[in-house]
Amino acid sequence: MEECNDNISFFKEGLRLDSRRPDELRPIKIEAGVLARADGSCYIEMGGNKVIAAVYGPREVHPRHLQEVTRAIVRYRYNMASFSVEERKRPGPDRRSHEISKVSREALEPVILTSYFPRSVIDVFVEVLQADAGTRTAGINAASVALADAGIPMKSMISACAAGKVGDTLVLDPMKEEDNFGQADMPVAMTPNGDITLLQMDGRFTKDEFSQALEMAMKGCREIYELQRKCLIGKYAQLETEPFLEVQVCD
Ligand code: UDP
Repeated sequence: MEECNDNISFFKEGLRLDSRRPDELRPIKIEAGVLARADGSCYIEMGGNKVIAAVYGPREVHPRHLQEVTRAIVRYRYNMASFSVEERKRPGPDRRSHEISKVSREALEPVILTSYFPRSVIDVFVEVLQADAGTRTAGINAASVALADAGIPMKSMISACAAGKVGDTLVLDPMKEEDNFGQADMPVAMTPNGDITLLQMDGRFTKDEFSQALEMAMKGCREIYELQRKCLIGKYAQLETEPFLEVQVCD
């Protein structure tokens, strides 16, 4: 987050640079089961973000000393492709990707029933193909769908989005320009019941703004949850109703 730039006008006739209302999410597209060789997977587009998540497991832990006797461990690797951003990113892990991997794992772990799979590991890989601010929340949304797609038992889904502040106005789901030149950014992840599993903040809110921004982010999470649910129901309903292939045997 850079210092607020007063020269930038973030609004025109009450609408944002991309014509959204302040409390509107960017367009979202979610697809489950996109990778044949993963146990579960999901592709998500949230505005300009394009992110893919792959889940493997529960499977044997390597190295073995990481095994937990009473539960599965969860590993989460967030990676930003070098071509995903305007200024080419140096490939490989860095401080930012370690931090995002850690907080994203912690956002998902509370709902995963890890005690069902002692001595095993559930691996979540998140690859950012195109970034436009909000990649950690897009990654968490995709990972949550991919975990469900892998059949991992969970107490609930996790949905995530950010609220921010630009030009002294609170906005839902900031895009890159708003994230870069705005005054605050607050990614949130939560269960459909409103239990918060991730809350980070960059920049400054007053106490009232914080409450309003949190409510705004939670509203966004509820909308995203409906899309995640629809995507999974759509996929599995389709499998159930898909007619058996009729094979014609010719003499
Ligand atoms: N970004 C970038 N290069 C980098 C890291 C980030 O251009 O090496 C951009 C990218 O568009 C990202 C945005 O900055 O989405 C905001 O990054 P932040 O660390 O706030 O995480 P995010 O909002 O993506 O979760």
